Amino acid sequence: MTRTKRAVVIGGGIGGLTAAAALHQSGLRVTVLERAPSLRPIGAAISLSPNALRALDVIGLGDEIRDLAAWQGDGGLRTPGGRWLSRSSAEAAAARFGGPLVLLHRSTLIDRLAGLLPPDAVRTSADAMLADPGDHDRPARVRTPGGELEADLVVAADGIHSAVRRTLFPDHPGPVYSGFTTWRLVIPLPGVEFASHETWGRGRIWGTHPLKDGRVYAYAAAVTPAGGHAADEKAELLHRYGDWHDPIPEVLAAARPEDVLRHDVHQIAEPLPAHHRGRVALLGDAAHAMPPNLGQGGNQAIEDAVVLAHHSQDLAAYTAARQPRTTAVTRQAVKVARLNLMSNRAGIAARNAAISVLSKAGPALFLRSFDGIADWRPPQPPYASQRTQVDES
Ligand SMILES: Cc1cc2nc3c(=O)[nH]c(=O)nc-3n(C[C@H](O)[C@H](O)[C@H](O)COP(=O)(O)OP(=O)(O)OC[C@H]3O[C@@H](n4cnc5c(N)ncnc54)[C@H](O)[C@@H]3O)c2cc1C
Repeated sequence: MTRTKRAVVIGGGIGGLTAAAALHQSGLRVTVLERAPSLRPIGAAISLSPNALRALDVIGLGDEIRDLAAWQGDGGLRTPGGRWLSRSSAEAAAARFGGPLVLLHRSTLIDRLAGLLPPDAVRTSADAMLADPGDHDRPARVRTPGGELEADLVVAADGIHSAVRRTLFPDHPGPVYSGFTTWRLVIPLPGVEFASHETWGRGRIWGTHPLKDGRVYAYAAAVTPAGGHAADEKAELLHRYGDWHDPIPEVLAAARPEDVLRHDVHQIAEPLPAHHRGRVALLGDAAHAMPPNLGQGGNQAIEDAVVLAHHSQDLAAYTAARQPRTTAVTRQAVKVARLNLMSNRAGIAARNAAISVLSKAGPALFLRSFDGIADWRPPQPPYASQRTQVDES
C-alpha cells in the first residue's frame, strides 16, 4: 500500500499558505503551523504582478484575485509639489505583461488561500521548531506545542527572522537594515477624488492607491536610523509629508493614529548557500527578504510556492530554479530603493530629468521596472486564463 506523503509548513503567511495549497493539490497531506493565534496578516494591502497571478492560476485562484482586486497602473510618478514625472495606464501595464498588476487587502488574499485547504490543515498558536532536517533515508522532524511531527517535506515559510534559516545556515549573516522605515495604512476616504500616484521626495516617498472595496491604501518610506518609533505615528507622518501635494493631506486628515503601521525594512543582502537542506525547503522572506520598493517580496514567495510543489521530490532542482531568480529580483529591488530614496539634491534633479525624458520617449518607469519580472511563467500550466489574457493583436 502506498503511503500519502506529509508536508509540514512552518508559517501561515502568504508564502506558507500558497505552498500548502499547491502541495495539497499535488496530493500531499499538509499541516500548516502558525505561531500567531490567527491567520490575520500584519500589513495593509499587497500589490500582485502578473508573475504571481500566473502562479496563483496554477492553484486555481488567479481569476478570483483579479476580480477582487483593483487593477494598478493608472496614475504615475510625481514630485512632492505635485508635478508629474511620468504617467502610466493599467491597460498599458496589462498589455506589456500579458495581464494586470493588481492591489488588494492582505487579509482577502490570506482568506482565499486558507480556503483552498482542508479544514483541519491549519494549526494556529503553534510555535514550531525544526528538530531534524532529515535526509533521503530519514524523515524530517518538527517540534510543536502538541508534540513532534515527522515529515517527508518541511517548508520553512517563517518569514524574515526565520529560526529555521538560522538552524540550517548558522554561518549566514542573516538580515540587515535596509536604511529606511515604512508606514502603511488602509482607510476609507469618501468624497476625495485622486489619481493613483507614487511621489518621490528627498529620502522620502509616499504612495496613494484605491482598493476595489472603496478604501484607500497609502504607504510612505523615509531614510532614517533603525529602531525609531514615534509616540504618535500619524503626527510623524504629518510632520514629514503634511505639505506634500493632494491627496496626501486629505489622507492624513482622515487617518487615526491607530490606523498607521510602522516597520523598519530589512533585507537578506547575502544570498543563502541554498534554498534547501535535507528535507527542508526555505521559501519567501525566510529565503530572500528584499526591500519592498518593487512590491515583489510576496510575489516571489508565491512563485517559490508553486515551483516548490513542482519540484517537491527534488529540492536541489527547487534551489536551482529559484536562487538565481530571487537573487536577481532582490538586486533589482535594492537598486530601485536607492533610486527612489535618494537624498542628494543634485542627484535627485538629474534623476527626475532623466525620468521625464525617458517616459516621454517610451513606456513609463513604473512599467520598465517590471521588465524581466512580471513576464515570468510558472513551470507548469495553466497560465493566465483565456478570460484575463490580453489580446495584443
Ligand atoms: C512596507 C512593506 C510593503 C510591502 N508591499 C509588498 C507588496 O505590495 N507586494 C509584495 O509582493 N510584497 C510586499 N512586501 C513584502 C511582503 O510583505 C513579504 O515579502 C511577504 O509577506 C513574505 O511572506 P512570507 O510568507 O515569506 O513571510 P511572512 O508574511 O512574514 O509570514 C511568516 C509567518 O510565519 C510565522 N512564523 C514565524 N516563526 C514561526 C514559528 N516558529 N512557528 C510558526 N509560525 C511562525 C509568522 O507568524 C508569520 O505568520 C512589503 C513589505 C513591506 C515591509
